[in-house]
Amino acid sequence: MTRPPVNKTVLISGASVAGPALALRLHRHGFVPTVVERAPALRTGGYKVDIRGTAVEVCRRMGVLDAIRADSTDMAGGSYVDGDGRTIGELPADVFGGRVEGDDEIMRGALARILHERTRDDVEYLFGDSVAALHDDGDGVDVTFESGTRRRFDLVVGADGLHSHTRRLVFGDERRFRRHLGAYISIFTAPDHLGLERWETYHALPGKLVCVYRSAGETDAKNLFVFRAPTELSFHHRDVTAQKRLLADAFAGDGWEVPRLLGHAADADDFYLDSLSLIEMDRWSRGRVVLVGDAAHCASPASGQGTGLALTGAYVLAGELAAAGGDHRAAFEEYERVMRPGVEQNQRLAEGFVKEMTLDTKRKIALRMFMVRTLPKTPWRNLIAKKIRDDIQKAANAVPLKDYPAGGTLRADASTGARTGA
Ligand SMILES: Cc1cc2nc3c(=O)[nH]c(=O)nc-3n(C[C@H](O)[C@H](O)[C@H](O)COP(=O)(O)OP(=O)(O)OC[C@H]3O[C@@H](n4cnc5c(N)ncnc54)[C@H](O)[C@@H]3O)c2cc1C
Repeated sequence: MTRPPVNKTVLISGASVAGPALALRLHRHGFVPTVVERAPALRTGGYKVDIRGTAVEVCRRMGVLDAIRADSTDMAGGSYVDGDGRTIGELPADVFGGRVEGDDEIMRGALARILHERTRDDVEYLFGDSVAALHDDGDGVDVTFESGTRRRFDLVVGADGLHSHTRRLVFGDERRFRRHLGAYISIFTAPDHLGLERWETYHALPGKLVCVYRSAGETDAKNLFVFRAPTELSFHHRDVTAQKRLLADAFAGDGWEVPRLLGHAADADDFYLDSLSLIEMDRWSRGRVVLVGDAAHCASPASGQGTGLALTGAYVLAGELAAAGGDHRAAFEEYERVMRPGVEQNQRLAEGFVKEMTLDTKRKIALRMFMVRTLPKTPWRNLIAKKIRDDIQKAANAVPLKDYPAGGTLRADASTGARTGA
C-alpha cells in the first residue's frame, strides 16, 4: 500500500517523453506535478523511436501501449542502395531494428502527443515558459520563471533533454558531462520523391550514412544524415543556418540522391543537427532537484534506446518517490541504483553503433554491402539476425522493473477500456 506522499508538488521542466511520462505516473501516485515547456505548444515533430524490452512493459503499465501500437510506424523493411540508386540488398524491419515480437516503433511526436493527451486534464502544463532561476533552501525550491512568475515547489525535475537547462542551472556547464562520440546527426522532413511507403533506404559513404524513410500514415519522408567529425564542430545549437551549411559541406560532391536531399534541407522548417553525444554524470540529483531521461543520461540517438530509457526512468523515479512516501533522498538514491547499470550498458552500445553507422573506409563498406547482399540467401541468416537482435535486446531489458502499485486516481486506457494502474 502506497503511503500518502510528502513533497507533493513537483515541477517538471520539459514536455517531450520523460516529462509527460513522469507527470502521468506522479499523478497516479497522488503527487501534484506541473510541467513547464519552453516551446509555445507541444512539439509534435521528430523521427521514429523504438519502444523495446522493458519500455514495452512500462508503456503497458502506464496504459499507453495500445495507443502506441495504433500509431506504429509499421515499417516493412529497408534496403541499401549504391551511388546509382541500384538496390544492393534488402532486409526486413526486425533485422534493421533489432526488434522482437511485442516491440514497437513510433514517431517521437506521436508518443509525446499520446502522453500529453493522457495527462493534460490532470496535470498543469505551462507552455512557452522556462525556469530562469531556482533556489533550493533545503525545505523546498523557489522557482523564478522567464515570464517573471515566482512559485515554490517541493521538488524540481529536469526532463529537458541533451542540452538540459536544469542541469546547467544546478550542476554546471554541459561540457563537464557531455561526451561527443565523434559524429553528427541531422534529420529533417521533405517531400517523399522516392516513393518509400513504410520503407527505409540507406546509402553508405566512407565516414557517412544517408537514410531516407517514410513511416505509415505520413505523407512526407524523413531525411537522416550521419557523418564523422572526431572533434566537435563550432556552431550554436540554435543557429540553423550555420548547421545547414555544415551539412552541405560534409556531403558536398556525394552521389545518389544526396544533392537533391540537401536541396530539401535548405527549405526544411524542422531541420535538426546535433552531435551524437553521451551525458555521463556521477549523480543525477542534488538536494531537491533530480534529472530524468536524456537530461540525466543521454545515450545518443545511435543507441536507439534513449526513448525507452526516458520512459523507464520516469516510471522508476515516480515509483520510488511513491514507495518512499515522497522522501526524496531515499527515492533519488534508489532511482539511481535501479537505473544506472542499465543506462551504462546502453551507453556502451551507442559507442559501438556510431562506428557501425559510419564505416570509415571503402573496404569496410564493400564488406558490409557483401553481407547485405548475401545475408538473405545464407543458411546463417537467422543466426546473424539473432545475434543483432540479442545484443539490442540485452540492452533493452537491462533495467530490472519493480512493481510500483499506483495509489492515485486511476484512469481508463481509452484504447482498451481497461482500468490501468500497475
Ligand atoms: C535524430 C534523432 C533520432 C533518434 N532516434 C531514436 C531511436 O531510434 N530510438 C530511441 O529510443 N531514441 C531515439 N532518439 C532519442 C530520443 O529522441 C530521446 O532519447 C528522447 O526523446 C529523450 O526524451 P526526453 O524527454 O528525455 O528529452 P527530449 O525528447 O530531448 O525533450 C526535452 C524537452 O525539453 C524541452 N526543453 C528544453 N529546454 C527547456 C527549457 N529551458 N525549459 C523547458 N523545457 C525545455 C524541449 O523543448 C523538449 O520538449 C533519437 C533522437 C534524435 C535527435
